[in-house]
Amino acid sequence: MEKQTRSTRQRKIILEELRSVSSHPTADELYVRAKSRLPNISLGTVYRNLDLLVQKGEVVCLETAGLQRRFDGDTTPHYHVRCRKCGKVQDLPGEFRLPDIPSAPLNDFTVTGVRVEFEGICSSCAGPLA
Ligand SMILES: [Zn+2]
Ligand SMILES: [Zn+2]
Repeated sequence: MEKQTRSTRQRKIILEELRSVSSHPTADELYVRAKSRLPNISLGTVYRNLDLLVQKGEVVCLETAGLQRRFDGDTTPHYHVRCRKCGKVQDLPGEFRLPDIPSAPLNDFTVTGVRVEFEGICSSCAGPLA
């Protein structure tokens, strides 16, 4: 059996912490959670392990231009909605019809996929109804 090294243990704890929340945390938020269990862990270690977990397909990275990356421990296909005010991300239940991916090259690009993120206002930002 593979001996559990320090780094695989760190990775396991980062993954456990990520899967225990549904808030789609940033690397910094995950670092705070991981640090409560591994006081010596560094932010760089959290970043490195997250990149590795994304490469291995165990974690999904949610990227939006200009915003901090967020991470999702749920790799089953689902959509997200992001609050335009506070940046909070939630899972969105349901199936949606997406644009077709063009099969012929468009301009300079061969289109390989489509990424959809819904946006809205979360209940705490919307405030009480006047
Ligand atoms: Zn909000
Ligand atoms: Zn999600």
